[in-house]
Amino acid sequence: MRTPIIAGNWKLFKKSSEAVDLVMNLAPLVKSVGGVEIIVAPVFTVLATVKRAIAGSTIKLAAQDCFWEEEGAFTGEISPGMLIDAGCSHVIIGHSERRQYFGETNETVNRKSKAALAAGLTVLFCIGETLAEREADKTFDVLRTQVRDGLTGLTKENLARIAIAYEPVWAIGTGKTATEDQAQEAHAFIRGVVAELYDHPTADAIRILYGGSVKPENIKGLMAQSDIDGALVGGASLKADSFSAIVNYGA
Ligand code: PEP
Repeated sequence: MRTPIIAGNWKLFKKSSEAVDLVMNLAPLVKSVGGVEIIVAPVFTVLATVKRAIAGSTIKLAAQDCFWEEEGAFTGEISPGMLIDAGCSHVIIGHSERRQYFGETNETVNRKSKAALAAGLTVLFCIGETLAEREADKTFDVLRTQVRDGLTGLTKENLARIAIAYEPVWAIGTGKTATEDQAQEAHAFIRGVVAELYDHPTADAIRILYGGSVKPENIKGLMAQSDIDGALVGGASLKADSFSAIVNYGA
């Protein structure tokens, strides 16, 4: 049994008072949801504040990125140990916006994932094809390469602390969700790649989240797919009512 994860990626939104309001409104709405891991990923500057606000709730804290060095002359970066110090249990790595705008590659994603795991964080490891790649029939090649190169050098034991987020780039922030069949097909493929690279028990255990315009209206259908184990939610995680409705998909 794979415990579902519903994670909210707040991107570059929510200053401290807005962030606290959001989690204070969210916590009572998700209090009675069992069997779902609930995670929010605010900007770095409010991590510690949000950590205090979620104390006593079931909500966990993620950062949206980290560097691979623990400390040193790396102006502007933040290390996995610093994220732990701020109260994070999770970190998003390789989000398509970072790949697209900040030069993130499969190699940097791999280095970051290793460092985050070594520090004790759980990694939400993002992959996904662009529209051009899908239209050129390259989706599976792209996903295979992202999984293989991004996970290079990671052990089976490491994979217990990784969840893969399949986020087709064309579905992020566009209002265009992959159909349930498209998402299921990609998830089954990714699980197959993990089985090839590791083994079947590892592939069966790893959680694969879908991301891309997830909303209260489409979460149920997505979660009904056998290889979809949760969601990474952007826009709809910025409001307590929509995010809690997604977390409550099973109600
Ligand atoms: C995301 O930020 O990971 C995401 C999937 O965004 P949205 O839900 O807004 O498409």
